[in-house]
Amino acid sequence: MGQGLSCRVQDEHGLFTAVQSGDLETVRSVLERDPDLIHQTTVNDRHSALHIAAANGRIEIVSMLLDDRLLNSDSLNRHKQTPLMLAAMHGKISCVQKLIEAGANILMFDSMNGRTCLHYAAFYGHSDCLQTILFAARTSHIAVSWGFSRFVNIRDGKGATPLHLAARQQHPNCVHKLLDSGALVCASTGGYSFPGSTPLHLAARGGSIECIRELLAWGADRHQHDSSGRIPYMVALKHKNGACAALLNPSSAEPLVWPSPLKFISELHQDAKALLERALMEANREREKTIFKGAGHLVPSSSQSDNDGIDDNISEVSEMELCCICFDHVCTIEVQDCGHQMCAQCTLALCCHNKVNPSTPPVCPFCRSKIVRLVAVEVKTANQDLNPKLWKSRMPNCMEESCSIKGLLGVPSFGKARSHGSARISVDTQCIDKT
Ligand SMILES: [Zn+2]
Ligand SMILES: [Zn+2]
Repeated sequence: MGQGLSCRVQDEHGLFTAVQSGDLETVRSVLERDPDLIHQTTVNDRHSALHIAAANGRIEIVSMLLDDRLLNSDSLNRHKQTPLMLAAMHGKISCVQKLIEAGANILMFDSMNGRTCLHYAAFYGHSDCLQTILFAARTSHIAVSWGFSRFVNIRDGKGATPLHLAARQQHPNCVHKLLDSGALVCASTGGYSFPGSTPLHLAARGGSIECIRELLAWGADRHQHDSSGRIPYMVALKHKNGACAALLNPSSAEPLVWPSPLKFISELHQDAKALLERALMEANREREKTIFKGAGHLVPSSSQSDNDGIDDNISEVSEMELCCICFDHVCTIEVQDCGHQMCAQCTLALCCHNKVNPSTPPVCPFCRSKIVRLVAVEVKTANQDLNPKLWKSRMPNCMEESCSIKGLLGVPSFGKARSHGSARISVDTQCIDKT
């Protein structure tokens, strides 16, 4: 993989050089003089003009070649790589889009590692290309004939899924997008890296704390062994990734996991989802601080965001805006259609808490109606805050009820969640017990 696109050899006609440099006029005039040249390929790797244009992001030339139907969008080089694979490898998003529009097949495998364009995007960390390919898979016949989730978890010749590659190569954005699209967080590789490696093993080896954070939040298992009997913690230690090892140590506090009942809420509004994800990651970062302190590591710089802006906003908010369950955070999530509101932390706690029967959707803690849709609360201006109707809809009927809701959610006991058996269902202590 990653071979150069040298076209110095046998380019006396100047076509490949012109394609590589994006010189559309020269490309046109060369082809007018000798139309058969379009079928020439480079000597070593047998790249077509389309391969060279796609890899170099020459969108005008890619468009010309495709629109004039001069070359097949799925032409193959020596390694059976398509122009789409090369565009995904080099992160040329406009070429990826154009090729897919022109009907390029996203389900082609190269002959080197048996990889698809999705593997290439994941390996090289181009999350925009990855997203475009996933969108194409979701909306094309592949979703029907192959199944979308099968495509997301497609394996290369050594049994690596795109998630394995993104985790190994330290690309947290790709890891996130893949998990969000249904990538299996605990899949084991066949022969890639150490056999039996999970994405968590590979992230431990790569040393990306961000990837580990994402994988753990999606329920990656810190206890899963590879074929040599190693857990991810041991892999991190071996590669001297100390901070990663601290998070992966099975004896350190378990991270909060993206709750599976949320998957049963059919319409989780994008904004609401982003708020919940942020709350989850923030809660986990608070945990990490304790873990790192205990392990003698500096808190990684990426967790700097804690106090900037968000807390300042809260200090200016009137009591009316506060969540009626914890009285600690601002209401950011609204249940439809009942209209009850709570903070993202309490919403997460509510969904995490429903562990006994994870196949039933969680219910609204205020009116007990099934939660089928969560939306983000619209940000209101100061004047609108005084609207008594809004206040009422947010408030439970009486304070006693609020207490019983707390009990229902298990909110007061989250700080000592271990006494309930699993820290997984808990929300960080920062969310509670300050009232
Ligand atoms: Zn709350
Ligand atoms: Zn309700």
